[in-house]
Amino acid sequence: MNKKYSCILLLISIMLILLPYPTMAVDTTPPNLYVVQTADTLPSIAKRYNISTHELKITNGLQSDSLIKGQKLWVPVTYEVTTGENLEEIAWANNSTIQTIKETNNLTSNHVYPGQILTIKPKKMNMNGQHILMNRDEFKDWLFNQQITRDIQLIQQHHTWKPSYKNFHGNNHFQLLNSMQHHHMKTMGWDNIAQNITTFPDGKIAVSRPLNTAPEGSIGPKANKHGIAIEHIGNFDQGHDVMTKEHQETIVYITALLSLKFGLTPSIDTITYHHWWHYKTKERVLDNAKSYEVKSCPGTNFFGGNSTNSAKKYFYPLVKEKMKELEGLAK
Ligand SMILES: [Zn+2]
Repeated sequence: MNKKYSCILLLISIMLILLPYPTMAVDTTPPNLYVVQTADTLPSIAKRYNISTHELKITNGLQSDSLIKGQKLWVPVTYEVTTGENLEEIAWANNSTIQTIKETNNLTSNHVYPGQILTIKPKKMNMNGQHILMNRDEFKDWLFNQQITRDIQLIQQHHTWKPSYKNFHGNNHFQLLNSMQHHHMKTMGWDNIAQNITTFPDGKIAVSRPLNTAPEGSIGPKANKHGIAIEHIGNFDQGHDVMTKEHQETIVYITALLSLKFGLTPSIDTITYHHWWHYKTKERVLDNAKSYEVKSCPGTNFFGGNSTNSAKKYFYPLVKEKMKELEGLAK
């Protein structure tokens, strides 16, 4: 190869290296996920996709009519069936259900054929007033579609103490949430239910107080300002409720997801136990308080204890491991 050609080749190689990276990146937002723009309103998006605002809200777990730029919403799509696909796969891949697809397209059986055009609406979420009840997968999708405008630095772990496991009957999630909300507003005089998130013995997760609103619990304003409060239904003091495996998995899983979402590395400064905050002064005292100056919350037997040492030894490693697992899935 002569010198002139090698120079040209070198020049081309340098130009390729210098090309801005984003031009090579592929847009991975699926067609049934709409990214909210500045001028959008709930009615304008609903009109564009020919659905009601109520349907848009209930399929996206929206707690109010206000939207935030960058927030992602599940929307209906037109879909062409390809060879070898069945309804179950199509529903799963498009955040829908077999029932929803059949109803929308007036199908009398589960049979679909290549070339068939379907309208696929997103599945409805389980909502009751402001409460959204989800399983772990649903919570993951929901959380990553949200735009959080608050600066979140602290994930608080609490147990409810009362209601405890004996008050949970397998299907009374909303009843427990509404009675806690009533207690917090009527007895405590707070604006809304104190906690943002509640977890249940069956592993289900509820979002109640919107994540864009700071929590309002007895832990105090310092912990609440940049915090997200999670209440775990149960009494996890020694000798009381024994946490179920499903509940353990959910607590680790959602703490890991929230850490990823808000860019937090598990430590005593990012994942806190109520027990580390003084009952009266509302200052963080960690393990340096008399027992009557702090609550035992989230329980003397919460993942092996409520001290900073037990958090470091038993809880944070599980959260870190789960974060790695979730990051692996995202790639
Ligand atoms: Zn607490």
